[in-house]
Amino acid sequence: MCDNGKQTNDQLNDNFDFKIAAQDGTARAGEFTTPHGVLQTPLFAPVGTQATVKSITPAQLDDLGATLVLANTYHLFLRPGDELVAKMGGLHEFMQWQRPMLTDSGGFQVFSLAEMRKVDEDGVTFKSHIDGSMKRLTPESSIKIQENLGADIIMAFDECSDPNDRGYVEQAMGRTHRWAQRCLDAKKRDDQALFGIVQGGIFDDLREQSARTISAMGFPGHAIGGLSVGETKAEMYHTVEVCNSVLPPEKPRYLMGVGTPEDLIEGVLRGIDIFDCVLPTRLARHNSAMTMFGRLNLMNRTFTEDLRPIDETCSCYTCRTFTRAYLRHLVVAREMLAATLLSIHNLHTLLQLARDLRQAIIEGRLEAFADEAIARLNLPRTPKRQL
Ligand SMILES: [Zn+2]
Repeated sequence: MCDNGKQTNDQLNDNFDFKIAAQDGTARAGEFTTPHGVLQTPLFAPVGTQATVKSITPAQLDDLGATLVLANTYHLFLRPGDELVAKMGGLHEFMQWQRPMLTDSGGFQVFSLAEMRKVDEDGVTFKSHIDGSMKRLTPESSIKIQENLGADIIMAFDECSDPNDRGYVEQAMGRTHRWAQRCLDAKKRDDQALFGIVQGGIFDDLREQSARTISAMGFPGHAIGGLSVGETKAEMYHTVEVCNSVLPPEKPRYLMGVGTPEDLIEGVLRGIDIFDCVLPTRLARHNSAMTMFGRLNLMNRTFTEDLRPIDETCSCYTCRTFTRAYLRHLVVAREMLAATLLSIHNLHTLLQLARDLRQAIIEGRLEAFADEAIARLNLPRTPKRQL
């Protein structure tokens, strides 16, 4: 689409394409073409914060059927530095992951990890949590760093706020919108899709306003940010509904940092295509197995002589091969293999759930699938509100 002769980002260029293959209510099964392959959505993206999904090799990720992997701009900017990654051939080459990748903008980490943070209209100055040195990120430098890293999908630099503090949310949202335009203006590479981020806390009117403003800027895809940071589940699901009622359906939608089984199900029902979360690998490092019938703590004494796998219905390598008794032994002995085997299982649970959700959409039985899955998790369904 052209606007006064100036090319906008409104159409995905030749490197990207998003097609909706099937719809079931507001849920969609999509095909998102990127320079490193086609993503079948809905999908769950494992998080490789420091250009590695903790304790998992790229070959194992591939075996798990992972398609999109996320890496964190904040961490890679601080160490080893985006210029080094660029020199080493970019993120795909550096970490040997040849499928699509996504980098966040650094915004979320600056607002959650960095000390002595100072925000001004131009950007954020903060103290590195690694060596205490002072660093600065602006919309322009975040884009520059993400261009050096070279992921397929990159994110606009946003300001994250406490979702309940209306005054601050309003201020941060306005700045996020101004920064979004600066990110679009700064972007140079055409083999990366830049997504805009909707903010606005838990306030419906602000979320609507943000979704309208960001949609009008012509990003090729949209993300919903600032959720899963302390609001209730009902508030989060409702906010997703409000945002998606405004965001254009023909572009991919990404719910940032959200990834429990129930969140994937409720998010997909409300029209989300992409999820990411550190939860499966973080829980694994804390001895916890995610299943579609709840969590198991492998430290538990009841598993000492348990010859069953974590989940008898699971087809992952860990469940095909090892008993709960062995996994408990590894956990108690603090063996490194425990984190790897539990991560394999936990990632499989979410990756398989995303594939099952896609299949249910294609077969037009998503509501029934969701009812059954949420009941197995022993959780209540969260009904959609009438908007
Ligand atoms: Zn398993």
